[in-house]
Amino acid sequence: MREANVRENGRFLSPAPQDDCPCGSRHQAQRCHRAADHSWVAERPPALLAGPRTGYSNPGCYARSRKDCDEELSREHFITDEVLGTISADKKVVMVEGANWQGPDAKQKVTGLKSLSSWMLCRRHNTALWALDSMASQFFRYFRDDGLDVMRFHGNDFQRDFTLVSGRYLELWMLKML
Ligand SMILES: [Zn+2]
Ligand SMILES: [Zn+2]
Repeated sequence: MREANVRENGRFLSPAPQDDCPCGSRHQAQRCHRAADHSWVAERPPALLAGPRTGYSNPGCYARSRKDCDEELSREHFITDEVLGTISADKKVVMVEGANWQGPDAKQKVTGLKSLSSWMLCRRHNTALWALDSMASQFFRYFRDDGLDVMRFHGNDFQRDFTLVSGRYLELWMLKML
């Protein structure tokens, strides 16, 4: 959830409790996505996997211990490809350091985004986890834009955009990366 150019309201670096909630409900934020202590509260995300359990464990899928795979194996990036695209200047390569295939003393290496993927998730799990990738790529794009705004306006009077992200979803995305 994103609100561009939040009205300056003195106390809060986010939409004021009496202002419209950035979710678009037309309710005041304090009657919608803000708790009584003024913290922001996101909805509990829906379950990622839909439909009955398959009972099948695909040997090539990293989520195979859940015994809920299908038989088709699909290609997946180690780190969400859209997130890599966001941090890559030319959308083609990134610098990689500390990956376990590089060995302990390896230096940074220019690596093509395409090669940072492998056949490692069954189609069912890949489809289910896509919502997390989509959220993360949006979040990191806003995060980058906010960083650029602070630099552009030298930290004085920068445009204050507000982002509300579900902590549960972000945690699940991090678990997926692990
Ligand atoms: Zn709301
Ligand atoms: Zn699977």
